[in-house]
Amino acid sequence: MAEISWNRPRTIEALRIAANAWDNKLGLFANIESPEDSLIQSLPPETNLLLQAQVLFTFVKLNLSGERAWTIVKQVRDIFYHARWIIDPAHMYQADLFNSYDYQFRQLIRMSGMRPELFDWWTKGLKMLRKEGIDNDPRNLFYRSDGTRLGIIKSLSAFPGIGHKIAQMQALDFQTWAQGRDPQLRDFFENVAEAFIAVDIWWMRLMRQWGCVDDWGSDRRDRISFEMSHDICAMCREAGISHLSAGQGVWHTGSLVCGALRPKRNDGFSALWCLRNCPMNSLCERIVRADRAQTNRGSMGWDTAVDRVKILEDPQMDLISLNGGDRGRTKLLATANHHPPPTPQKLIQRSQGSLGFE
Ligand code: SF4
Repeated sequence: MAEISWNRPRTIEALRIAANAWDNKLGLFANIESPEDSLIQSLPPETNLLLQAQVLFTFVKLNLSGERAWTIVKQVRDIFYHARWIIDPAHMYQADLFNSYDYQFRQLIRMSGMRPELFDWWTKGLKMLRKEGIDNDPRNLFYRSDGTRLGIIKSLSAFPGIGHKIAQMQALDFQTWAQGRDPQLRDFFENVAEAFIAVDIWWMRLMRQWGCVDDWGSDRRDRISFEMSHDICAMCREAGISHLSAGQGVWHTGSLVCGALRPKRNDGFSALWCLRNCPMNSLCERIVRADRAQTNRGSMGWDTAVDRVKILEDPQMDLISLNGGDRGRTKLLATANHHPPPTPQKLIQRSQGSLGFE
C-alpha cells in the first residue's frame, strides 16, 4: 500500500526549480561542484578509466559509513595516494597479509560515524568484484544487469551492506561520470528508460518542507524512502526533468544551506541566505526539525514540522523574521548591516569543514 500521497504539480514545480538552479548555477549554486566530481577532477590526468571507476566505486561504498560526502572525498584521496591496494581488488586477499590489511584499513578509514561492519562489507565486496565477468571493473555491474531501473538496483545491491539508496547513488554517480568520459557507459545509460534518485534524509525533509507530500501512512525512513525514490523518478520522467540535475539541486539545497537554518544550527548568516538566495524560498512552507528522539526511532518527524515563518520569528531562535513585519524588518536590516550574507565560497568552506552544516 502506498504510504505517501503527493501534491504532484507542486512536486514537479519543486523538482523543476531545483534542477534549473543547479544547471544554471543560480545563487546558492554558483561555483559549487559536487563532491564526486571534485574527487574525479582531483585525480592526476593520466588516471585511466578503470582506476577512475574504482575510485568512484570506493567513494560510493564509503558512504555506508554515514560520514559527510566531503569527508569521504578526503578519505578516498588519501587511499588513492597512500594505499591504493584498498581500491584495487587485485591486491586484496593475499592471506598472509590479511591482518595487516585489516589494521591499515582501520587506520585509514578513521571515520567517526564508521560502522564496525564496514570492513567486512568492504572485503566481501572486493571479493565479489574479482569474480569472473566483473573482472575488478565496477562498470561491469551495470552491463550485467537487465538495463532496467529495478534490474540495475538489484545488480548493485547484491553487494553486502548496499540497499536501494546507495545503489541509486552509484547509478547516478556513474551516469554523471560517464558523460564526456566513457562513451560505452554513457550509451548504456542513454538506453535506460528510467531514472534514479537516491532519497536520503534531506530529500525526505525537503519534500515535506516544500509541501510536496500531502498526507502519509508512515514517515518512517525505512518504509518510505524506496517508494519516494520510485515516485520522484516517475515524476521527473513525466515532466521531462533531468533526474541528475534535480538530484544535485535538491541534495545541495539541503546539505549546503538548509541544515544551517535549523534551530540547532541557528545563525543569522544562514537565515539571510535562505531568504535571499535559496531557490526554494517561494515554495518552502515549513521546517522539519532534526529531532534526535524521532530520528532514533526512524521517524522523519513530518507531523511535528514547524511553520517556517513562525520559527524564524521566534526571538528565542534569534533568527530573522521572514514575514516582513516591523520587528522582522528591523532585525533583518540590523543583521544585514553587521553580517553580510556568506559568499558561495564561504558556504562551500563551511560544508567541507566542521562549521556546522549537515
Ligand atoms: S528553509 Fe530556507 S534554506 Fe531550507 S529549503 Fe526552505 S527556503 Fe531553502
